[in-house]
Amino acid sequence: MNVLVINAGSSSLKYQLFNMKTESILAKGLCDRIALDGHLKHTPANGKPVYDSDIPLPTHAEAISAVIDKLTSEDYGVIGDLSEINAVGHRAVHGGRKFFGSTLINDDVIATLEDYIRLAPLHIPANLMGIRACQSVMPNIPQVAVFDTSFHYTMPEYAYIYPIPYKYYELNDIRRYGFHGTSHRYVSAIAIEHLNLTGKESKVITCHLGNGSSLAAVRDGISIDTTMGVTPLEGLPMGTRAGSVDPSMADIIATTDGSSLKEAINILNKKSGVLGIYEKSSDFRDIELAAGVDGNTGFIDSSKEHDKRAMLALDIFCYHAAKYIGAYVVALGGLDAIVFTAGIGENSPYVRKAICDRLGGLDVCIDDQKNVGRVSGFRDVTGIGSKAKIFVIPTNEELVIARDTIELINK
Ligand code: AMP
Repeated sequence: MNVLVINAGSSSLKYQLFNMKTESILAKGLCDRIALDGHLKHTPANGKPVYDSDIPLPTHAEAISAVIDKLTSEDYGVIGDLSEINAVGHRAVHGGRKFFGSTLINDDVIATLEDYIRLAPLHIPANLMGIRACQSVMPNIPQVAVFDTSFHYTMPEYAYIYPIPYKYYELNDIRRYGFHGTSHRYVSAIAIEHLNLTGKESKVITCHLGNGSSLAAVRDGISIDTTMGVTPLEGLPMGTRAGSVDPSMADIIATTDGSSLKEAINILNKKSGVLGIYEKSSDFRDIELAAGVDGNTGFIDSSKEHDKRAMLALDIFCYHAAKYIGAYVVALGGLDAIVFTAGIGENSPYVRKAICDRLGGLDVCIDDQKNVGRVSGFRDVTGIGSKAKIFVIPTNEELVIARDTIELINK
């Protein structure tokens, strides 16, 4: 059984084709600059050459057609024809109040997603473009939506209801949802396995630190709290998002700039976070370099220049992450393990160390030597005497989507 996993953005479409017998990747790629000029990079895993070229992609439908063309072509292909794709799994960002698990896509699901555009105006339209494109190019292949929000449906009411007039929840679905659910679910399950606590009581905090960052408190395998809210803007400061700030600030920024509230929210989403502080980049590699961090060891290199704003941006990020970890130890009533994952969590020894070095009050510490370098598989970086384990676990959201897809079509 082969499953094609699609992650559609407004001008991009990432894909991976899985052989689900072995859970191995047959090919993966990225369609970029859709509706602009168009570019496709397709990487087969069978030794055939990589296709990397500009190609006209006026809409997502042409992008999907180009992907199918490459997957089945003689020169770059990994399958004979379309009949070897058994199902398509879509990453869907927002499941609103209706989708608390992955679902087979039909007209009702699409209508509900259209209604939920009001909750995720930046993301759902792109997801729908990907779904519609696949339906038009592969009308007879079942499609499944796997939601970023689903894993967090187990949060208790007191964690997901905002202290605002209740009617906004009842009538307009405004509540905390949380995101990165497939990632938190995947890495927390691996952590629980390594703790030998499968099916037993467990208390794990998962830190998904990437361009977008969120933490989740996972008790006995289920999410009981997470840092993002009705949109991904809430919680930790991120690459370009402010995270949780005083909501009145949007109005103050709009008044200061003489702009609209929408423009002010755009500043909080796109121009804030570490980019807002450092100003030159939102990429942690650039910020660490400017702050004099040795990217491999995570130590500050005193022979290098230290850009104060870069250091401040890192401090703000790590301080807030550590603060949420403290809050989630309270939510969980204890702690068995902290997990670091995603682009920064897997690749930045500095960030892992700078967060853990703030956790002395919890008797948690990292081993500076085990923490060195990027991580390609499971790694235990727990320091001697630490009361909780610290794991680095590479995430695999696409595999979770492929697994859910197979499970649903086999039902
Ligand atoms: P993601 O959204 O999970 O793909 O994470 C992307 C982010 O990870 C990038 O924008 C970088 O900020 C960060 N990142 C990737 N590699 C490294 C690295 N070697 N050191 C520090 N940060 C990294």
